[in-house]
Amino acid sequence: MELEIYSKKLEVIEGSVFPDKQSLKDAIIKKAVMEKFRIRIQYSEKNRLIVICAAKGCSWRVRGNIIPECDKWKITKFVNEHSCSGLKKSNEMVTSSWIASLIKETVKARPDISPRQLKQKLKEGYGLKLPYMKVWRSRATAKKLIFGEADDSYKLVPAFHHELLKCYPNSHVTFDYCHTDFSFKRFFVSFKDCVDGFIAGCRPLIGLDACHLKGKYLGMLFSATALDGNRHLYPIAYAVVECENKDTWQWFLKHLMLTLKNNIENLSFISDMEKGIEDVVRLEAPQAEHRVCMRHLWKNLKKTLKGDKTALLRNLVWAAANSYTDWEHQKSMAAISNISKNLYNYLINLKYKWARKDFNPLVRSKDNTNNTSESFNAWISQHRGKNLIDLLDEIRTMIMEQRNQRKKEMIRWDNGLVPVV
Ligand SMILES: [Zn+2]
Repeated sequence: MELEIYSKKLEVIEGSVFPDKQSLKDAIIKKAVMEKFRIRIQYSEKNRLIVICAAKGCSWRVRGNIIPECDKWKITKFVNEHSCSGLKKSNEMVTSSWIASLIKETVKARPDISPRQLKQKLKEGYGLKLPYMKVWRSRATAKKLIFGEADDSYKLVPAFHHELLKCYPNSHVTFDYCHTDFSFKRFFVSFKDCVDGFIAGCRPLIGLDACHLKGKYLGMLFSATALDGNRHLYPIAYAVVECENKDTWQWFLKHLMLTLKNNIENLSFISDMEKGIEDVVRLEAPQAEHRVCMRHLWKNLKKTLKGDKTALLRNLVWAAANSYTDWEHQKSMAAISNISKNLYNYLINLKYKWARKDFNPLVRSKDNTNNTSESFNAWISQHRGKNLIDLLDEIRTMIMEQRNQRKKEMIRWDNGLVPVV
């Protein structure tokens, strides 16, 4: 994920157009830092932004307005002259709390960003050369600003955890917090009934995926999903984590395996090729098979291919992926090799299982796309902007209502088989 908060091209001049209010704000802040004066945001409203020089009575000001037709922001007035007595020395204004407000959006989007990376960004974006410890302190302050602002939702985490376990005994519900500043980190939920049902009645193929949250604190929602016997979405576990990386995936997988009690034979996972996920599955579930979602794989491959053979390669890659026999598979692979040796080599060295002929037959599933995860993300999408506790609880409610609904439908089935059979 590339962050655009340090806009390099967008200049503060009358008539300049910015993609949104934040980038306009950032450009103004950057100008002030570079030219060493303090600013004050006088108005920040839905369709207007006015920033002035913080010195009393100074005439320097910028006004930005939204362009209603395209939602972009335009500088409609700019007085680029100071009537204030003089500019401060840079060090005077560069306090930790001031840096914190500068880096807040970055830290919010990437809570795992290191002080070293921030230091580099501040240097590139603002020409600020700051000592490591100052950046470290500013990051801590920024985190406090974000968590403090996010709402009181985080204070309710222990109580919510307790409540869930009381209502759903023997479920695997756990959370994690930062041991230095006690801020919230992660929350994992897996209900006993969901796990029992999965073990008893679902094919052991689990879709793993992450989607971005849109609340104040942002973060990611991880999910583990399967299909029930009637080929309907079957959620097994979900978690809110600070960001997507190897560490958070490992934490999620560890708890998922604990909740499954490591006792499912022929377990299989399917996921996109997210960073670190392949290593993590191998570490936490060494016996399990790991498939890659073919739609995701092809999307990535397509970016590297050029020319008029792309459509042909698409058909060949999918044919190779969908083959049930070695013979069929080799036929497509030979054709791929003739067109692109690189693509052929990439595919034969892929660590994931991607061809149906290699799938463990005892999983009894030929699925090579991660549709369950996609359905799950679409299903909960409307709640992605909610605060932590509401989000976790909305998903809980949805799962419980879904289970109830299915129970009611099941009663109407008149033989022992599911309707899809
Ligand atoms: Zn001024």
